[in-house]
Parts: sequence; structure tokens; C-alpha cells
Amino acid sequence: MTQDHQAKSRESVDQDQFLTILSREDALVRFEAALFPRDVPSAPRKLADALGCALTEDVVAPIDVPPFDRSNVDGFSVRSSDLASASEASPVRLTLNDEVIACGVAPARPVLSGTATSIATGGPLPRGADAVVMVEHTQPSGGRAIEIRRAASPGQFVSYAGSDIARGEALLRAGTIIGSREIGICAACGIAQVAVARKLRVAVISTGDELVQPGKQLTPAAIYDINGAIVTAAVNENGGEAAFLGAVPDDEVLLEVAMRKALAQSDMLVVSGGTSKSAGDVSHRIIARLGKPGIIAHGVALKPGKPLCLAVCDGKPVIILPGFPTSAMFTFHDMIVPLLRRMAGLPPRPDAKVVAKVPVRIASELGRTEFVMVSLVEGSDGLIAYPTGKGSGAITSFAQADGFLKVDALADQMPAGTEAEVTLFTPHVRVPDLVIVGSHCTGLDLVTAQLSRAGLSVRSIAVGSLGGLAAAKRGECDLAPIHLFDDKTETYNTPFLIYGLELVPGWRRMQGIVFRKGDARFEGLSAQEAVRVALADPACIMVNRNRGAGTRILIDRLLGDVRPDGYWNQPRSHNAVAAAIAQHRADWGMTIAPVAHASGLGFIPLAEEHYDFALVSARKQRPAVLAFLDALVSEQSRAALTQAGFRKA
Ligand code: AMP
Ligand code: MG
Repeated sequence: MTQDHQAKSRESVDQDQFLTILSREDALVRFEAALFPRDVPSAPRKLADALGCALTEDVVAPIDVPPFDRSNVDGFSVRSSDLASASEASPVRLTLNDEVIACGVAPARPVLSGTATSIATGGPLPRGADAVVMVEHTQPSGGRAIEIRRAASPGQFVSYAGSDIARGEALLRAGTIIGSREIGICAACGIAQVAVARKLRVAVISTGDELVQPGKQLTPAAIYDINGAIVTAAVNENGGEAAFLGAVPDDEVLLEVAMRKALAQSDMLVVSGGTSKSAGDVSHRIIARLGKPGIIAHGVALKPGKPLCLAVCDGKPVIILPGFPTSAMFTFHDMIVPLLRRMAGLPPRPDAKVVAKVPVRIASELGRTEFVMVSLVEGSDGLIAYPTGKGSGAITSFAQADGFLKVDALADQMPAGTEAEVTLFTPHVRVPDLVIVGSHCTGLDLVTAQLSRAGLSVRSIAVGSLGGLAAAKRGECDLAPIHLFDDKTETYNTPFLIYGLELVPGWRRMQGIVFRKGDARFEGLSAQEAVRVALADPACIMVNRNRGAGTRILIDRLLGDVRPDGYWNQPRSHNAVAAAIAQHRADWGMTIAPVAHASGLGFIPLAEEHYDFALVSARKQRPAVLAFLDALVSEQSRAALTQAGFRKA
């Protein structure tokens, strides 16, 4: 065996041990065991800047509060024994000492028997005095004396030194989060600086040859770095101090240099991407060289999120998140956020979870903890968690998602009606005023923009026409946008409504053939002619649409039984069709006119499609629904829709 071979086989042995997939729970137990117990990193902080920080040491009172025996009222400091016999019948006369004790004035003369000293609220009791008589309970008697007609008990109207806070008393315990109350307690004792958990320094690195930073020009086959931005923000949201160090190419040497440098200057390192076992993925190999004990878990039974890698290198956690942004977020929020907060001495975020009812059955793979993105809407009795986009690569579903729920590894489904715990992406639940579930259309944004400007929040969940109708039937949305053609009646939408739903006319969308401008095969033809030409040319590739799409029905009608090259490429959106053609992956397809025009493509009109709304009658009177119906028929909408290439119904 050559040395190279030996090295290779050693490496494959090393890798094999990481191929053991751990359950989410086992992975967490092992990770925590390797990290805790540990001290929370601490730093002194000025009291005024410590709001929201966690104390790392007990605060012990350095002085008594109040620091001296103090009068609680305006009056006269006296010796209570002088007044033992005082009554209405036999008043006691006390001579006034030549002193007035105001707040902040230290007494100079003692109160001797038979005398009294004038004292203000908050003034220190003079030597000899043991009680205060309120000014209202005295009468002047000649120039320099007062008369008192009632006895005073020792300590009357006096706050003794240390009665509030006694020197040496533990005032606040380590771990306490500092609020205004805690700041007040420290201020009372004169404490100007406290030891608090300093923010955990978290270095964030993205990996991948394909990554470009936002703000820079996208090159062919490149994508924007999403994880870098999102992980950095999520670290900061959870009390960490993130340092984003950029995206590093899939190069073992460069990445190792970057990871070593990052780890040296931080308490924790979060890398994303490069965890799958393809040739270009190297980060897990580097970790093994960064410090002891190294990799704790590489491969966790999560869906999505299986390639998660957890490691500890010389005491510091190193985490490699899966590359897909949604997988990265699920695993980060579920497993890393609690750890980050614990390391930083912060309690779990109380507002990070809510309970909501799941309206539909969610199928799940047995043996893996499954994460499902959800969108929260207000139901008739509490929150409803609506599952949105399931693909682990879909960043778009983030826009609609408030958080995610977990289906246990031992369950093969979550039944409809389950009360599930939802982990929020956002710090607060934002239940929308208007919920639109169904087929999405760019024209919709033009109408709802008016509502947003009026301060109403709109949630639009794209699940297709049929999904929208089902949601409307269950009463989970206000409106379901649909474009369903009924072959029997040859009409749109109306035949699909059931009791409880009513049709609100929307707009018309021109469907047609798209192609690259200047393609002589298509210019100037009718839709039927264009399809004939395309089918006759073996070099011509089409792009289809998914089954269930209204557009697909039109395509199938045009094609009949023919299955041209590209037929099985079935993207789920109008924009994907346009992109495939613009990027020369296909030569023709079908989409709506506004999308074709926005992409600078040629367009041959075929048929107008009706995009309408199924309105849930029971929710018709809700203010946001009324506002939407107004906006829909407004002159503003008509103008915006026309401008974008739609035609009002
Ligand atoms: P990887 O784990 O590197 O194999 O990446 C899996 C998938 O996630 C690939 O499609 C990557 O392009 C994508 N990906 C990895 N890192 C990022 C990132 N920082 N932002 C957006 N997508 C990413
Ligand atoms: Mg990669």
C-alpha cells in the first residue's frame, strides 16, 4: 500500500464512524455533556448599560439602606421617654435646639432630655433622639419651645439604618436578568458596575463555491448567500454577538485557515454548508483537526437537517449547519439557540413558543424528527398552525412562515386537530388581519398593497386553487383565490363553490405561448401554429407545468397525446417557466402575459383565464375583508392591474 492509499483508507475509517446517525435527543445529550458544566463568560458592565443582561455573580449589599436612622415625616426629633406622661390634660413642653435638620444635613447637636430638634422627612436622626413627632401633633409654645399632648413610642416615624437593605445581604442572585427594578436596587446601594454575562461571540462562516454576497452581481450558476445573513441575525436575536466572516469556497486549505482564525477569536463557530458527503464537502474533515474531542454528531435523524454536524474543539462548540437555508434555520432554532442562550447565561426565550392547532393531517417519515414550517392564523377558537412549503430548499416559504413544529421521530403522522407547539422564527406572534389561501398571482400583491398602506396585515399562502378551496371550506382563510376550469360547463370557478362560499370576481389573465424574442420559429404565429412548428422540430424543447395547474390543462389540450422533449420538466410556477426559456434550458412553454413581459420574452396569446376569489361568507363582515373588497374594485387597483397586463373582470 502506498502512503497515499493508507491515508485514504484511514480517512474512510474516520468518516465511517461519523456515518452513525444519532437521534435528535441523543445528539443533544452528547453535545451538552461535552459542553457543560462551564462558566458563563462574564464581564463588568456599567449599571446604566446592564439592562437586559444576566448577572454572573450574586450582588451583595455593600452598605445599609437607609445608611442612617431616618425620619419618615416632617416634625421634631425627640426622646420618647420625655413624652411618657404627655396627654391632653398635661402637655409636655420641650425646648427647641438651635438646629434644623433638612434632608442631606448631618445633625451637629444632640437631643438632650427636655429638648427637641426640628427635622424634615429624610433627615438623619440626631444623637439622643429615638422618635419623631409629627409637626401637626405639636403646638408652638413661646419663641423657642413646643408643646406635645400625646406620648410617642420609641422608633415612632423612624426608619432604622439597614431596615430596607442590610449590609451583607444577598440582593440579587447570579442568573437574574437585570430590569429597571434590579437597576433600582443596585442604585440604592451605590453599585455602579455589575458583573454580567458578556455576549457570546459567535463567528459565522458560509461555505460553497456557488455563493455570492447580497449587493454583488450574480454570476451564472451562482446563488446569493442566504445562510450567512440569516444565521448572523438569528445569533444576534438570541443574545449573541455574531461576526460574519463571509463565504469561503469549497477548498479544504482556505476553509481550514478561515475556521481556525474564526475559532481563535470567538466562543462558538457556526459554519453552514459542506456537510453532505459529496466530493467538494470538506468542513467535517477539517473539524477533526481543530481540537479535542472533535465531532460529537455528524448526521442527526432530522428531516430536513440530517447532515447537521455538532463538534466541540478544545471546549468551544463548532456547528456545521446543513446548506439548505430552511434546514439550516430549523436546526439552528431547534438545537443551537437553546444552547447558545444557556452558554450565555440567558434563560430560554419565554416568547419563543406558542401552542396552535394543526388543521390538516401531516404525514411524516418514521424514525426522523420532522420539521414542518407553519404559518399562524387566527381561528374561531385560538391559533391555527398552517403547514407551508415542505421542500427543504424553499426559502420562499419563510416569507409566510411564523415558525415551525416538530413531528416526533416515533410518529408517522401528526393527526388533524393536534395541538402542537410551534417554535417561532419571529420574537412575537403576528396574526394577520386578512388571510388569503390559494393560488398566487402577482396581481394579488397590487391589490393587497392598498391594505398594507392602510395598516392592515395580509398573509397570502400559496397552496394552489384546490388547496385554497379546501382551506376556505374549513374556514381557515377569508378568501381563496382560484382559477379552475370546469370542462363540463366550460366555465371558470363558479361550479367549484360549495355552500358557505361565494364568488368575488377578480381579474383575467391572458395565457399564452412564451419563447425568446427573435426566435424565428415562433415570431408572428398563432398559438396552434407555434405548437405545430415546435412539435415538428426535434431540436425544440418545451417546459411543461405541474399537474393540477390551470395552465397545465391548457397545455394538455394543445398537445393531445404528444409528449415532446421537455414534457416531463414540470415546474410549479409561471416564473420558473419563464426562467427555463430565458436561460435556454427550454425553447417554449406556457405562462401568463405579465410574467412573459416582465422576463422580456415573446408571447403569443391563447386564452383568457379567470382568476377569482372564493369568499368565506361567514367572514364577510370582518373589517379587513371589507377593506379588501373595496380595494379590489378601486380605481387604483384597476389601473395597477391593467398596467401589469391583467384585465379587470
Ligand atoms: P451543501 O451542504 O454545501 O451541500 O449545500 C446544500 C444546498 O444548500 C446547496 O444547494 C447549496 O447551494 C445550498 N446552500 C449552501 N449554503 C448556502 C447559503 N449560505 N445560502 C444559500 N444556499 C446555500
Ligand atoms: Mg456546498
